[in-house]
Amino acid sequence: MNVPLLDLKPQYPQYKDKVLPELMEVIETQGFILGPKVEKMEKDLAGYIGAKHALGVSSGTDALLLALMGLGIGPGDEVITTPYTFFATAGSIHRVGARPVFVDIEADTYNLDAGKIEKAISKRTKAILPVHLYGQCCDMDAIRAVARRHNLRIIEDACQSIGSKFGDTQAGAMGDVGAFSFFPSKNLGCFGDGGLVTTNDEALYKRMKALRVHGGERQYFHAEVGMNGRLDAIQAVVISAKLPLLAGWTEGRRRNADRYDHFFQDNPKVIRPVRRDGRFHIFNQYIIAVDRRDELKQHLTEKHIGCAIYYPLPLHLQECFGYLKHREGDFPVSEQAAKRTLALPIYPEMPAGGLEFVAQTINAFTR
Ligand SMILES: *Cc1c(COP(=O)(O)O)cnc(C)c1O
Repeated sequence: MNVPLLDLKPQYPQYKDKVLPELMEVIETQGFILGPKVEKMEKDLAGYIGAKHALGVSSGTDALLLALMGLGIGPGDEVITTPYTFFATAGSIHRVGARPVFVDIEADTYNLDAGKIEKAISKRTKAILPVHLYGQCCDMDAIRAVARRHNLRIIEDACQSIGSKFGDTQAGAMGDVGAFSFFPSKNLGCFGDGGLVTTNDEALYKRMKALRVHGGERQYFHAEVGMNGRLDAIQAVVISAKLPLLAGWTEGRRRNADRYDHFFQDNPKVIRPVRRDGRFHIFNQYIIAVDRRDELKQHLTEKHIGCAIYYPLPLHLQECFGYLKHREGDFPVSEQAAKRTLALPIYPEMPAGGLEFVAQTINAFTR
């Protein structure tokens, strides 16, 4: 049996008939950049997420960049974030000239530990950038309370968490800006790179909209220097066509998570992902923590089971952030997670018997 970590091919027939005419229309009209298809997608997604405004952008990374630029964050500023995330989170802070200030994570959810944020705040701190990692929201009550006390902005990195909820509110609708990615491996992926920013702030929306096209509200007249962060119409029609299926795919992932939990419940050697009360986890990844993680990965690979390490080296130890002068031991919870965690196949169309095979192989190896 062969169980890949992710296979998008069985998803395609589910929306093929809907997306092909839309793609043909884009090709026939030759309207490739922004335009009515992108505006429709922005409306669809703002409605789904529950934010007033949304802007389609070229990637999740550019969504983060645009959010930081829109909030006027730059040289001399500090932004608090987690060292245990995809590189783009801290990379974007660096790219606008600000300084990433890391705060360690919770051992069980792998999300930013809100209780440790206050100690990291200085007079240069401008924003907190929590990452709703793997599909579960951070403790946004606690994060918002800290932000309010210190007058800080919040940018939610919701790239792995579209449809995820904290209470009744969706990821990306709780801070000043939400950043999303439509990279194909995310729960809602397009046919290449794509992203989205969301906000409830009208002025910020207008500023980001101008920054998306080189900072000019009127073409060729530039109030400030922006970027090329535009989204293609081709990606927009794919996102709109797939959106109605997202809730069903999320349910499939959550069902698979329940089944893994069931198979691992009597195996104390496999630490299962924790779901906090009042949060709706969308399981972009199902992450276990084990001893001898690298040996287990090797073993699964030999059995043709796909798995991956997110993330093997925390960001505070990356060469490019050497100037921050961190060393091993500075963020022990993140470092432990980097050594012990493994992502398992969780996608809803997994081959029949695939999940049982993965779980039994892991149980046999760890016991
Ligand atoms: C995927 C991802 C990004 C970046 O998205 P891209 O579309 O690949 O640029 C940023 N942050 C997190 C947490 C992600 O998972």
